[in-house]
Amino acid sequence: MKSITLKPGREKALIRRHPWIFSGAIASVRGEPGLGETVDILDSRGGFLARGAYSPHSQIQARVWGWDADEEVGATFLRARLKEALALRANEQPATGDREDTSFISRSSSAIRLVHAESDQLPGLIVDRYADTLVMQVLSAGPEYWRETLADLLLELTGTVRIYERSDVEVRKLEGLPERVGPVRGDEPPQLEIVENGLKFNVDLHSGHKTGFYLDQRANRRRVRQLAAGKEILDCFSYSGGFALNALAGGATHVTAVDTSSDALTLAEANRVLNNLPAEDITWLEGDVFHVLRKFRDQAKSFDMIVLDPPKFAPSSAQVQQAARGYKDINLLAFKLLRPGGTLVTFSCSGGISAEFFQKVVAGAALDARLHVRVLEQLHQSPDHPIALNFPEGAYLKGLICR
Ligand code: SAH
Repeated sequence: MKSITLKPGREKALIRRHPWIFSGAIASVRGEPGLGETVDILDSRGGFLARGAYSPHSQIQARVWGWDADEEVGATFLRARLKEALALRANEQPATGDREDTSFISRSSSAIRLVHAESDQLPGLIVDRYADTLVMQVLSAGPEYWRETLADLLLELTGTVRIYERSDVEVRKLEGLPERVGPVRGDEPPQLEIVENGLKFNVDLHSGHKTGFYLDQRANRRRVRQLAAGKEILDCFSYSGGFALNALAGGATHVTAVDTSSDALTLAEANRVLNNLPAEDITWLEGDVFHVLRKFRDQAKSFDMIVLDPPKFAPSSAQVQQAARGYKDINLLAFKLLRPGGTLVTFSCSGGISAEFFQKVVAGAALDARLHVRVLEQLHQSPDHPIALNFPEGAYLKGLICR
């Protein structure tokens, strides 16, 4: 067996079952493993710790597949892991393997994350289901090595008709992998329509953000819908209108939705039409939220509810201070635009910013706005994006509902 041996004292993280082995912890590599090949991970005395995927170019030089010396990594192993991930979502999932069953399309949601990488003990693998299409995103060398096997297993276990790949992400560079986009199994996907909590959305698999849709906000969009009745709402960083259309469906009197991307707003307007929501109740505004909020402040505009769902300001811990300034800026402006008793629903999806730190930043904004603000709810990513307790890095999306 090809193997890597850790330096003395560097096995601690692995013993706590953290699945990453950094290059600095490795003393030696035996057997010349290739990109993504399976290696045994040994402690400095040669004792077995785990089995993982080797990634020679990455700082994270191996990612753990499993902790059991008797378990071979191969099709049987991967099938079991995938089945476990599917079982976790069973409540929100149609019956698997039943190709005749299209009934779930008419159930309340037809899009779900099926595999959430490290959190599902499948490091580097993301699989999202959009109705009868799967989108797979391969982030690291391990799943790249097993890509064909994984694709076959995924089709078999889900009964879907096609798999499309969206491995066009920066992190692949760190792994020495090229970007890849296109069909993996089945034909080129058509313009896809999904249902989320009863609302329809067009999903652009080819060039949409992430794998096409921000599935992680499903539960939070529903929450906004429940709070929207009778309110005038500002949805900042709207993308394809997820929060905006939920707000309208929930009885908002008017929604203003802002995004810099005209493509996103075109998709959002198409989504409005798809749901027969009245055009006069929504204003799509192409613009930079940082500028728009200032302009609204200067115009003395006000809202009953504001949603802030910005992109990642701090992809890693290096950008945290700058990101904190960005978060404080928009949250302060938003507080100032709220009518008395108004509601701010504010998010951060930056991995480098903890929930505790984010709350402090929002507290700083409230202080500067001279408001007494209460947090009514703390929000998280939807449960199909679970957080493994041995991998706290998996908790990236945090939000607050503030009054
Ligand atoms: N709320 C959305 C997801 C938002 S993703 C949903 O529920 O689906 C972040 C969005 O912010 C992207 O659509 C991106 O185009 C937009 N964006 C990024 N920087 C921006 C800025 N400075 N001003 C306005 N929009 C911005």
